[in-house]
Amino acid sequence: MSVLLLNASYEPLTLVSWKRAMTLVISGRAEMVEQAGDRVVRSAGGAEFPLPHVVRLMTMVTFAGMRARRSHRFSKSALSARDDHRCQVTKCDERGSTIDHLVPRSRGGETSWENCVLMCPAHNSRKGDKLLGELGWKLERRPSAPVGAIMLTPARSSEWSRWVVPA
Ligand SMILES: [Zn+2]
Repeated sequence: MSVLLLNASYEPLTLVSWKRAMTLVISGRAEMVEQAGDRVVRSAGGAEFPLPHVVRLMTMVTFAGMRARRSHRFSKSALSARDDHRCQVTKCDERGSTIDHLVPRSRGGETSWENCVLMCPAHNSRKGDKLLGELGWKLERRPSAPVGAIMLTPARSSEWSRWVVPA
């Protein structure tokens, strides 16, 4: 039984055992965010505690090098999750189903977290080989790599799909 551990910022950090999660909650170092159904654990003294599914640290932890170590490999499914499956052009409510290179590949743009966003097919084809500035378009947010988020296998990520970008 694993529990998803979130940083104070709600970024997923890692999976921990339920015992470790209980220890964090009982000692006040973490709070329960989601309970594992109505399951409870009984302490030796007979007290009942709800079994956690997701817990969040009360204070922010930062790991030197976490960004580099945990950086996501770029993939379309992970990009779709980062961009909420929506076209990233401001005020467009369409589903984002195509990957747009902000600096087009024909102009030397890379396939990277910073240079790629989801767009609807209409925006993507209108953009073509132009830059956003040339069209006067803006993005909902500046694209960047998902930081600190952990990668889980698809089977596991569905369990915590609210929190984790699928692998
Ligand atoms: Zn669009």
